[in-house]
Amino acid sequence: MKSGKQRRAEIMEKRHARIPVKESFDVYVLPAPAGAILSNREVLRNNNTYGLLPLFYVDYAFNCRDCGCAQIWTGKQQKWWYEIMQGNINSVAIRCRPCRKVEQQRKKQAREAHLSGLAAKQKQ
Ligand SMILES: [Zn+2]
Repeated sequence: MKSGKQRRAEIMEKRHARIPVKESFDVYVLPAPAGAILSNREVLRNNNTYGLLPLFYVDYAFNCRDCGCAQIWTGKQQKWWYEIMQGNINSVAIRCRPCRKVEQQRKKQAREAHLSGLAAKQKQ
């Protein structure tokens, strides 16, 4: 009588003969939609992600978080953000340009207040 291990080897051999090995599916050869801006994945390599990198950038519609106005983050802006500015691959636009300027100003003031407070504390 054959052992379980031998029996299993036989079964697997038959199974491999019967079922052909699937060709590996390369998602990166899929065609991009019209008007999309192709990504340069060599530049995106710095993103330490297990997820797929974008194949292309398409215009992204969103409402500003602060004022609620409808905005479009264009594919060209996305390419600039991800590839030239090396922005995080999971980040997306959330504020319109005027609201972004206000937020940057608010953060700058908060940082200055924090650092001046820290400096005053360390002097004591
Ligand atoms: Zn806004």
